[in-house]
Amino acid sequence: MAQKNANSLMDKLVSLAKRRGFIFQSSEIYGGINSCYDYGPLGVEMKKNIKELWWKSMVYERDDIEGLDASILMHPKVWEASGHVEGFTDPMVDCKVCKTRFRADQIDLSKPCPVCGSKDSFTEARQFNLMFKTFMGPVEDSANVVYLRPETAQGIYVNFHNVREAARRKLPFGIAQIGKAFRNEITPGNFIFRTREFEQMEMQFFVRPGEDEKWFEYWKETRRKWYNRLGLNPDKLRFHQHEKDELAHYAKAAFDIEYEFPFGWNEVEGIHNRTDFDLKRHMEYSGKDLRYFDDQTKERFIPYVIETSVGCDRTLLTCLVDAYTEEEERVVLKLSPAIAPIKAAVFPLVKRDGMPEIAKEIISNLRGDFRVFYDESGSVGRRYRRMDEAGTPFCFTVDSQTLEDDTVTVRYRDTMEQERIAKHEIKAFLEEHIKA
Ligand SMILES: [Zn+2]
Repeated sequence: MAQKNANSLMDKLVSLAKRRGFIFQSSEIYGGINSCYDYGPLGVEMKKNIKELWWKSMVYERDDIEGLDASILMHPKVWEASGHVEGFTDPMVDCKVCKTRFRADQIDLSKPCPVCGSKDSFTEARQFNLMFKTFMGPVEDSANVVYLRPETAQGIYVNFHNVREAARRKLPFGIAQIGKAFRNEITPGNFIFRTREFEQMEMQFFVRPGEDEKWFEYWKETRRKWYNRLGLNPDKLRFHQHEKDELAHYAKAAFDIEYEFPFGWNEVEGIHNRTDFDLKRHMEYSGKDLRYFDDQTKERFIPYVIETSVGCDRTLLTCLVDAYTEEEERVVLKLSPAIAPIKAAVFPLVKRDGMPEIAKEIISNLRGDFRVFYDESGSVGRRYRRMDEAGTPFCFTVDSQTLEDDTVTVRYRDTMEQERIAKHEIKAFLEEHIKA
């Protein structure tokens, strides 16, 4: 029963996301392509808002982090050094009857195939590398193999000294990056939760060995607080520190931030103490000295790295799930105003008496500072409902009283309460209310 409710909530969310233009199936007119999605007019705004909020809190509001945008294709040796060529694999089995592919660790191999019900139909488990492979240049041979990066972090490690020198940084300092990554997942799913192409928001913080534990604690707390700024229900968030036996090969400590999705608790962000593993490996594979020289103590050493890694698409899904609310007469997305795709709508109550002209003048004064929307079609009640589904936090309506005293009604999405404010105060009102 719980599973059924979860499915129906996700189905409703997928349907709303399509109807309102948040997220479409990729290549839909050709029948779609599995686990690839396109962000529509509202989705692209919301995603941009999430990325800007992250960048603001990680780069602009601090004085110890620099930004970077590394290329997706990198030297193939990067992925040997990182361990991805050898170790970035999942065990996979195929059903010989229906040809369905499964992750061997996600099904019970002693039971019949969960898709076609055949008994003893599985192949032996094989290791399947999750990196997408392609060829650089016109010749498709093994000498020209390159990979679509499976994580953005390596672009930061190989640029550690470029950034440090160019920005004249001393330890501790971090490098932040937002960008696409690709993993050929055997079993993607749950809408945009696990996709083969996705966007990461990662920051690698370089510290002196011995100060890593202190910084790990610091970043745990700092990243935990970020979720308040997204306006998420705190009861749906939990924090999980990995036990020793759960840790990845490169990590000394790891901490997950998880959200309770309709399909269960799942990771949105990971904070990892990656030690000196990555820089040490790149030093070994490139033959370049990647040590840091401390000009006060005259020591040379490989910095430790604390990583914070968030899935951008996952964060967007988290915000949509958290905001989705069914009330008696409406469906409303109670998104934080900071990430809502449209900040305000402006309506003339009726299409006469000069009301549309006043509403359009208000809109043109807001444009450039805010993403706003003008709507004069249908009853005002219907216009409110459309904005509720888009997650628009405020609607301003020009009515007959506006003609007398230059005030408009502001209607609050979440409470549906209305009050009057002066027309010239709208811009200040929005600036005040959409800060995160
Ligand atoms: Zn089968």
